This record gives sequence, C-alpha cells and structure tokens, in this order.
Amino acid sequence: MRPAASDREADVILLNTCAIREKASQKVFARLGVLRPLKIRRPDLVVGVCGCVAQLEQREIFRRAPHVDFVMGPRNVSSLSTLVNEARNKRHQLAVFDPRDSLIPELPVAALRTPRTRAYVTIMEGCNKGCTFCVVPATRGREACRSPESILSEAGRAAGEGFPEIELLGQNVNAYRSGAWDFTRLLGADSLTPGLKRLRFTTSHPLHFKNSIADLMAARPVICRYLHLPVQSGSNAVLSRMRRGYTIEEYLSKIAYARSRVPGLALSTDIIVGFPGETQGEFERTLDLIREPRFDLIYSFVYSRRPGTPAAGMADDVLAEVKSDRLHRLQEIQAGIQAGINAGYVGRVEEVLVEGPSAMDPGVLASRTNTGKIVNFTGPSEWTGRLLEVRILNATANSMRGEARDAAASLTSLRHRDIYEESLSLEGGSAP
Ligand code: SAM
Repeated sequence: MRPAASDREADVILLNTCAIREKASQKVFARLGVLRPLKIRRPDLVVGVCGCVAQLEQREIFRRAPHVDFVMGPRNVSSLSTLVNEARNKRHQLAVFDPRDSLIPELPVAALRTPRTRAYVTIMEGCNKGCTFCVVPATRGREACRSPESILSEAGRAAGEGFPEIELLGQNVNAYRSGAWDFTRLLGADSLTPGLKRLRFTTSHPLHFKNSIADLMAARPVICRYLHLPVQSGSNAVLSRMRRGYTIEEYLSKIAYARSRVPGLALSTDIIVGFPGETQGEFERTLDLIREPRFDLIYSFVYSRRPGTPAAGMADDVLAEVKSDRLHRLQEIQAGIQAGINAGYVGRVEEVLVEGPSAMDPGVLASRTNTGKIVNFTGPSEWTGRLLEVRILNATANSMRGEARDAAASLTSLRHRDIYEESLSLEGGSAP
C-alpha cells in the first residue's frame, strides 16, 4: 500500500482514534458522517475504525455508522492487514478486540509519523495505574512490555536506515520491566544508539522517575535534555482524588534532582483543570506550581468525564465557564513563562536537528534543539536529517527564528536519504 493524496483516491480509509477526552471521541462520529457518501458511491472502499474509541464504542460505531467495514482495538495492530483483506473479500462487518493479541508486534520499519527524521519505537503498551480520570486502562489494558531484544533490533534497524533520532514510546516508559531489564538499563544499552544522534522518550510517570534516569541523561549526550513528567495538579488534595500516588513535594524533589544533574534540562508537564470538586483554592495551588519550576511547555486540559472511569462516579461539579476560565488563566501565565524561557535562547548558538520544510512555510526549514524547541531558519531541503549549528535571532512563546551559522563547516557527515520513500520500498508491498 502507499498513502493516497485524498479520501477520494483512497481504497482503504482508516480512522485512528483517541478516547482520552469526549471531544476527541465525538470527532470520530463527525468524520464517519463525512465519509458516508463516499462509501455509498464506491462500495469497494474499505472503512476501518482503529484505536481506543473503537475499543470502547464498538457497537455504537456499527449502529451509528453502518458503512464501517471493521473496528479494531489498539492492541490488535498485528491483525490489521488480515482485517483489510477480509473486509475486501467478504462484505460483512468485522470486529477484532482479542486481548490475547497483546504482544507488541515488531514492525517491518520503525513506525513512521512526522517528522520523517524521527523513528518511534514502542517499548510498552497499556497502563497499570488507576488514575481516577483516565480511560487508558480500559481501552489499552494492562501493561505489556516488549522484550529488550525486539526493541534493540527495531532501534538498530531504524538507525541503520538513516534515522538520526529515535523516540521510545509508552504510556509509562519508566515503568518498563522485562526480566532483569528496567527502563534505566534499556535507555543505557550501548546497542540502542550506534549511529544515532538523538534519543528521546515519552511519557514518564512521576511515580517511577528514578534518580538513575537523570544520572544517565547527564552521562550520555545522545539522550536529549528534555523530560515530560505529567503532574496533573498542584494540589495534594486533588492529586489524592486523582489517585496519582505522589505528593507535590515528592514531584518537586524529583525534578530538582533532575535539574541538578542535567544542566539546561527542559521540562514539560500535563495539567487537568476542573477535576471533580476542584475548589478555587486547589486551582490556585496549580498556579503556584507552574510559577515555580517554570516548565518549558504545558499541555493543559479541561477535565472531561470518561465513562467507566472511577471519577465518572464523582459529581462533575465545576461549572463549564469556571473550567474554561481556569484553563485560560493557566495558559496565560504559562505563555509569559515560556516567552521568558525562550527569550533566554536569543543570541545563543544551538545545535539543531533539521526536520524538513516547515508545514507552515515550505520555504523555511523546521528544526529542533536538543531540548525540543522549534527553530525555523532558511536553508535548502537537502539539509533535512542533519545536525547543524544555528544562531537564535528571536523567540516567541512557541518557536524561534534563527540563521545557520557557517553552514558548510557545521554540517555533520550524517547521510541524508529520503527516508520515507525508502521505507516504502523496504515494505515491498504493492499499491492497492
Ligand atoms: N500516561 C501518562 C500519565 O498518566 O502521566 C499520560 C497519558 S494521557 C494519554 C495524556 C494526558 O491527557 C494526561 O496526562 C492528562 O493530563 C490528560 N487526560 C487524561 N484523561 C483526561 C480526562 N478525563 N480529562 C482531561 N484530560 C485528561
């Protein structure tokens, strides 16, 4: 198969879905409505719904969108090609939610997403935490870790294929455990990185964040100085109702240690506002929290009640206007903090990895610093995949503008290939 340019040209359309908030779920049904006339005109078109909404709302999907050919849970990726073929041959609706199909498949190429310079390697699936707001344990099931051999072999292939950067993925990467291997051992495995320029990982859970991870980040320049550690709230009372398993004091002491060991470490976090029962005072504790450690980035969300979660039984008693006011206040304060942090980069020379022409302006190259900041600058698209030095000229809360510094001298000898085209030919499949 190869990607089609538009829905109209596609033979197979897959919706990969997220159930984490209600809005994301609703979008799936809206999108399926748009696809309906297409399927009526072309009955041979295969429409599949994959991922967490499929897992949660299987019957509802078939009821509200009878033109869907199959639904498939997030743990069944290895069944995808069989499902597509069956849907093409037999014209009846199919559903796969087999929990036994829980082994994470070794993919023929490191999973491709944008940017094309970064290979994503899944190390674990599912979640054993019982956070009261979260639907993930219901949709993705218990934690399952891939063997280190399988991870190292996929990572080695990705590096061999010319990917300069790898990101290790999992709901709680630092809960990784396989026999005698824990996350620190995996991250430090020498065989993970030959030929690699950058190694990232996400998401870490505060409860499992050990000092040894920060020590390793300090010792290995290939591990990027960036840590995403979702805190969710600045109030201990809210954290306890969320059943996060740590206090703010414990969280702060972990990031203080990480910062003391890794100079220049960039920190990001997730915050939910308007959790059931959140008082004004409890929300103020969250504002106190974000003023103090000064996060480089915050992903902030209004609490969304998810069916089947323990919090769904609590009164969702914070008014919608109050929730959105709180979100707005939080984001306003954070924008000021981010602008201040980024302004500190102006005038500095930073090593960036070029990710390719910017989606906003193809005449400009988008790149990232080791700490994950976006830097745009002018240069030829052939520089994609290269590490080079850029002087930062100006910065806003969300991105920076720079200029390549003595580009010829600073270019590394990294091979650049058209990774995307190559990976397609490696798959060896023919177009449908
Ligand atoms: N596994 C990670 C952890 O627990 O730290 C995060 C996984 S989740 C996919 C990403 C973020 O979505 C969470 O950190 C949380 O801030 C947000 N989120 C999850 N459930 C939510 C809900 N019911 N309403 C609003 N935001 C939610």
